[in-house]
Amino acid sequence: MIETDEFRVLGLTDSTLGAIRSKGFETPSPIQRLVIPVLLQDQNDIIGQAQTGTGKTAAFGLPILELFAEKRGVPQALILVPTRELALQVTDELLSFNINKKLSITPIYGGASISEQLRRLAKGSDIVVGTPGRILDHLRRGTLDLRSLHWLVLDEADEMLDMGFIEDVEQIMSHIVEPHRVLLFSATMPDRIKELSKKYMTNVSLLKVDTPNLTTDLTDQIYFEVKEADKFDALTRIIDVTPDFYGIIFSRTKVGVDELVNRLIDRGYAAEGLHGDVSQSLREKILRKFKRKNSNILVATDVAARGIDISNLSHVINYSLPQDSESYVHRIGRTGRAGNQGTAITFISPAEFRQFSAMKRQVKADIRREKLPTPQDIVAMKKSKIMEDLAEIIEGELYGDCGTMARDILQNYPPEVALASLLKLAFKGELDESSYPEIRSFSVDRKGSARLFLALGRSDGFSPRKILDLIVRECDLPASKIDDIKVLDEFSFATVPFSEAERVTRTLNSLSKGRPIASMAKDKDVKGDESSSRKEGKRSDRKSERRKDKKFSKGRDESAKRGEKRQRKSDRKSTAKRSKK
Ligand code: ADP
Ligand code: MG
Repeated sequence: MIETDEFRVLGLTDSTLGAIRSKGFETPSPIQRLVIPVLLQDQNDIIGQAQTGTGKTAAFGLPILELFAEKRGVPQALILVPTRELALQVTDELLSFNINKKLSITPIYGGASISEQLRRLAKGSDIVVGTPGRILDHLRRGTLDLRSLHWLVLDEADEMLDMGFIEDVEQIMSHIVEPHRVLLFSATMPDRIKELSKKYMTNVSLLKVDTPNLTTDLTDQIYFEVKEADKFDALTRIIDVTPDFYGIIFSRTKVGVDELVNRLIDRGYAAEGLHGDVSQSLREKILRKFKRKNSNILVATDVAARGIDISNLSHVINYSLPQDSESYVHRIGRTGRAGNQGTAITFISPAEFRQFSAMKRQVKADIRREKLPTPQDIVAMKKSKIMEDLAEIIEGELYGDCGTMARDILQNYPPEVALASLLKLAFKGELDESSYPEIRSFSVDRKGSARLFLALGRSDGFSPRKILDLIVRECDLPASKIDDIKVLDEFSFATVPFSEAERVTRTLNSLSKGRPIASMAKDKDVKGDESSSRKEGKRSDRKSERRKDKKFSKGRDESAKRGEKRQRKSDRKSTAKRSKK
């Protein structure tokens, strides 16, 4: 079967399939299977209901792009989304499918310069993706022409309700008189949304992906909050501190698998990748190698991991979130099998937080938040591993003819100097804590809020009110989402939803040319006395040491850090074998 055939049978044609191929999607998600054919063939309005993160954007985006007759420069599709972040995300996702028709797709949201948006609208726009408030502004000013509208999409309808946009949405809907299809997507269907759909939608096809009852209790489940850009270093830390790491790492796309495998190999890890483009014979070869533990890291897509029967994994790692809670359960079910204790780890970036919270609720599992292992943890692990290996060689008298060279060295140098230099030669920077990149932890509370540190204080003329206004105005975040503002002389703190935190910091920093003014507060800033925390950076380090997870501080390091090290490992194995004889 050709890789995109499963999308083709839904009714999509070559021009769209090419885009799907380059995106690296392997199979349509359940909501895509339901929505795409109906959207392509019928004329009904549609309600699509499925969990967050299940690909609803592509479910409506692919057919709309497929059906889009011609570029006319007047909006034929309007997509309403609850936040600026989503406006940008949806725009990006649509642009990534928009390879052939080269439609002009414009995000419109509050907080951005209205004159720039006017300029873009005036230039002509085929698809507009926007937040309700700003769209309404443009409708009132007469700067958005919806007379050619074919599709109105209400995306993340339940969140638009949560954010208090539902009246704006209604007003927009009552503004549009032309016949058009209304497509409503939502993870849940609160009554208010049902009412809205009854009032403004006709001949509705309700397409719903049921979420099954799920349980997961065999496996130890933890998650780490990391920025997207820090995921790779976080992963290598986990591998580095885990004795006998033997795991599957899940990525959502083929492109993601290839990228990750390459980066791991570049760093000297024994990683292999599996996805739908890997031939059957290569797949078998890779699996054989993995089963024999000649490689200890397998990076895979969900599809490629199907049917892999390996029961003794130490870890399953969700490098990117699974499509839905069902596939979360599938993924982590690969560890902890047959009475083996395994650990399932999920990385959550701020952008994934929404989906993760929904998923966590769904699987009703106890997924613990943990701190990433520190460089101290890694170095401690490596040292204890060296001590063990050393003991093995000494006790077995396995040092062979190195004895002669040792005598030579000791004739020329004091023993401590000689040994230290030999360790340096063998392990380079590996035993040096400062050679591990910093991964900034940040603090998220139970409600999913993150604390921000702002380098703006009373001495810069800021009051809590002014900080609030700044965030509302520049970041397009409703005041109701901003909490607990504390202004000190030189800096201040504010709490915002974790899912918005990365965007808010980015936006604020783009305002101050040069010095960044916003960052996610470290844990110490939040828990300690805020006014003195920055000066006492040391404190948190001690705290994190105390909190060191026992899982990470015992045992041995089995990961091969560099190519040479992998070599040493196989040497070690053969020495061990020899010693058994
Ligand atoms: P939702 O709107 O349901 O919350 P999104 O449309 O935002 O979900 O999709 C979440 C992520 O899943 C996006 O990164 C998207 O590119 C990806 N995705 C969508 N469809 C597929 C698919 N068929 N295979 C793999 N990844 C997909
Ligand atoms: Mg969505």
